[in-house]
Amino acid sequence: MENYSNNSMSRKEIEITLEDVELIMGENIHFLNKYIENCFCRNCNPSLTTITNYRFFLNDLEDIILKGDCIKCSSPVARYIETGENKESAGMAKHIREIVKKYKKIKKQ
Ligand SMILES: [Zn+2]
Repeated sequence: MENYSNNSMSRKEIEITLEDVELIMGENIHFLNKYIENCFCRNCNPSLTTITNYRFFLNDLEDIILKGDCIKCSSPVARYIETGENKESAGMAKHIREIVKKYKKIKKQ
């Protein structure tokens, strides 16, 4: 029952821009295309596919998530980029999360 309180609802995701992704990934931004072209689709066989119409999100582990559609069958696919494991990337991700929070507050007023 330990997993009960650890459900995915507590995982706060915020949408970020490509500019944010560039800041978080730093030099590794060169690999972004590799992530885009190496997605897993449970509908397709072979399951390796390319993600299209994607948007970027940041989860509370400071990982980037691409969410979009499978280029072959159009079903929804997601791709994790584990930037949270890199100290510099995680630091930048936290910084961006703060900025996005502040920006949302300003927009509400
Ligand atoms: Zn597919």
